[in-house]
Amino acid sequence: MGRLTYRLASLAGPDPPVGVRLREDRTIGSTPMTGTDHQGELRTDPLTGIGVQVTGSRQKRPNLPTTGPTGCPFCVGGVESPEPYRVRAFPNRWPSYPDRRCEVVLYSDDHDARLSTMPDTAVREVIDLWAERTESLGARPDISYVLIFENNGAEVGATIAHPHGQIYAYPHVPPLPATELARLAAGYRLLEDRPDLVVVERSGWRSWVPAAPVQPYGIRLAPLDQRADLPSLSPEERDAMASVLAETLGRLEAVFDPPMPYMFWIHQRPTDGGQWPQAWMHLEIAGPHRSPGVMRYVAGAELGSGEYLNPVLPEDAAAALRSVRLP
Ligand SMILES: [Zn+2]
Repeated sequence: MGRLTYRLASLAGPDPPVGVRLREDRTIGSTPMTGTDHQGELRTDPLTGIGVQVTGSRQKRPNLPTTGPTGCPFCVGGVESPEPYRVRAFPNRWPSYPDRRCEVVLYSDDHDARLSTMPDTAVREVIDLWAERTESLGARPDISYVLIFENNGAEVGATIAHPHGQIYAYPHVPPLPATELARLAAGYRLLEDRPDLVVVERSGWRSWVPAAPVQPYGIRLAPLDQRADLPSLSPEERDAMASVLAETLGRLEAVFDPPMPYMFWIHQRPTDGGQWPQAWMHLEIAGPHRSPGVMRYVAGAELGSGEYLNPVLPEDAAAALRSVRLP
């Protein structure tokens, strides 16, 4: 993107001279591609250096698969979940990346459950599954980074309402986590110690609105003591994370009517075998509504400059999230 991103990315390691990158990228296009059965490839734009996974076959996926007794593929008896389960992970039938790098994670067999309203003990089971999948996928020699994420709500592209998230497992450390790891190594801090930005804090965990969030209701959630990844969390720490995560999502959903859609992702230690002593796991939530029902879209100047405009003062967002009355 812009100069800022380029500068940050360069912290992650020696950037190849642009000329080298251009020569490398000239091989792009040598892979036969039909657009329908294409298995996907990571291309790098020679001008910006931004990576793009192109996967023509995803265009064939259904918008709303309707199978099984309830018409939901994730309900018990549906095409993806024939057997009873509590939480479950399985390979994505419509992967963005080849080689079984994409998984779906079901949070509950209850079609109407939400992380924000599930009991903490049930959210804890989801966290345990995330940790198990991180270890299992991360043990593969062809996987260097396990990214857990969720798109929640049709406005942010979720095509199935049943409570679920996804996992992408990358053969490299993707640019954003790489940049964050480089900045942590350089001495920048993850935690922001400002009470006016805190949303929830207890039992060693904090969620807060960053002072400079890209999204109007951006929230980070992290342990107050450094923990590298989900598998390193103790049982007590997982319980506490479940409680703070569920309450934080509940506050985000209740801050506006209609409830805000959201995305979240978890950044944790790469699984490439490196030490990464600076790694500090955290979950980041992106709430894109700027006011009730009003999406904030990324504008031309932002994509064009690589710098973002936030129409909501982060301090006000944090205060609004704190003031939500929970049932
Ligand atoms: Zn369902």
